[in-house]
Amino acid sequence: MHDAHCHFDLYPDPRAACAQAAGMPAILVTTKPSAFQRACALAGDFPAIHPALGLIPQEAAALEAHLPLFLDLLPRARFVGEIGLDGVSPDPAGQAAQSRVFAAVLDACAKAGGKVLSIHSRRAATPVLDALAAHGAAFPGAVILHWFSGNAAELVRATGMGCFFSVNPAMVKSANGRALIGQMPRDRVLLESDGPFVEVDGRPAMPADGALAVIHLAGLWGMSRPSVERLVDGNFARVMGN
Ligand code: MN
Repeated sequence: MHDAHCHFDLYPDPRAACAQAAGMPAILVTTKPSAFQRACALAGDFPAIHPALGLIPQEAAALEAHLPLFLDLLPRARFVGEIGLDGVSPDPAGQAAQSRVFAAVLDACAKAGGKVLSIHSRRAATPVLDALAAHGAAFPGAVILHWFSGNAAELVRATGMGCFFSVNPAMVKSANGRALIGQMPRDRVLLESDGPFVEVDGRPAMPADGALAVIHLAGLWGMSRPSVERLVDGNFARVMGN
């Protein structure tokens, strides 16, 4: 298995969380540029865990001043996330800051090429896809839409743009999440925990909880669990080799 979106640095014991991944390939997403160096140090002892440079949209207004640091660090980061747009906050100034930050981040990533992006798009799937489309139909790198919760038409559009979708245990539990997963092409589905934000049985999700999504996918696709693991791990390998 693998974990395409895990906040290893935000668990009470980040090293223990990394150790629990037990060699599983994973992306360590961060929420702010100042966390990247620590994430690199943390991941340094776990060769399968790849640190990502992030700036989460929910804090874009406060973090916009850190955009220059993000851009300085970008040449050192092959993985970028968590980035994106979040349509939940009604604050217009915050929304404007999100748009400016996301446009600047995508612009820099497109120019650099070869980045693997993990993108948040809650209640903002269309603006996220519009921003990606502004850089051409095929973004020069791999795009993973994490915890995708858009509508069916947005999912079709994202698929047409070459996006991957990382699915987590919370999505498998919700009716809307299951409906969306049912429409995702098999060759674009990845696993994520989004721990420690996503919870499983009242505790923070761990990379191994990808098994819950595998069980769901096995039923949905009429495949054995090992076959599903091979398929989605193969998808992740394509992303990593991109
Ligand atoms: Mn996240």
